[in-house]
Amino acid sequence: MNSVLLGCEACSFGYDGRPVLSCLDFFVEEGDRLCVVGENGSGKSTLLKGLLSLVPPSGGRVIKNPCLTAGDIGYLPQETPLQKDFPATVFEVVLSGRQNRRGFAPFYTKADRAAVEETLLMLGLGEMKQSCFRELSGGQRRRTLLARSLCAAGKILLLDEPASGLDPIIQAGLYEVLKRINAELRITIIMVSHDIEGVLRFTAEDKSASVNRGGKVLHLAGKQLFFGSAENYRESEAGKMFLGAHRHCEP
Ligand code: ADP
Repeated sequence: MNSVLLGCEACSFGYDGRPVLSCLDFFVEEGDRLCVVGENGSGKSTLLKGLLSLVPPSGGRVIKNPCLTAGDIGYLPQETPLQKDFPATVFEVVLSGRQNRRGFAPFYTKADRAAVEETLLMLGLGEMKQSCFRELSGGQRRRTLLARSLCAAGKILLLDEPASGLDPIIQAGLYEVLKRINAELRITIIMVSHDIEGVLRFTAEDKSASVNRGGKVLHLAGKQLFFGSAENYRESEAGKMFLGAHRHCEP
């Protein structure tokens, strides 16, 4: 039996008394892959911040399994100009993700370094671990920051547009890596995306994994329009509208 890790119950969020999101009722269980979709400004990033307790709910409540500690949650925010300028190597940037799992220990341990090595290999970054982060391409930088958030995540990863700005081939590789992380490490993933190909790849059923299943979709438009399986989403009014509109926009 899976257990609920994170979710919302009759929840709303806003800024300075201005409502941004309302009527949120959803949950993720251990091992889930949830894709949060919606147009720009529909409240996707606000929801991630709410789940991370960076924005308090203005109504209802955020459900957080008591077994979750700060060291269990990894977060990849949208890329900011500041992130491009880390004066550190790829290895050091990824290692810094272990910081919140160190507790009171003053130094990184052998286990921390081993976890970083393993994650770099998994994301195809092994050969560039001594490269300077700010000299990387956009795709390599995004993968390095993903590796960092993965090293920070014991149980759950929150990703805000992880593939934005990447070329289509690198994007496709990224979604496959995310599915492997989910299937092999049983890390629960909540991913914000407005990229239709990404949504379909990320939520498609994983036939190779014995315990895994298809992903779920949460569609936002200032409120919750849909929450359920990706399969049901494709047949829903909200799904047809979103998938249809975005397919239309593809080159
Ligand atoms: P999305 O991620 O779907 O593009 P956001 O959650 O970023 O949407 O934004 C939803 C709404 O909340 C927008 O109208 C945005 O202007 C507003 N908003 C986002 N962050 C803040 C903030 N820190 N202070 C005030 N308003 C904000």
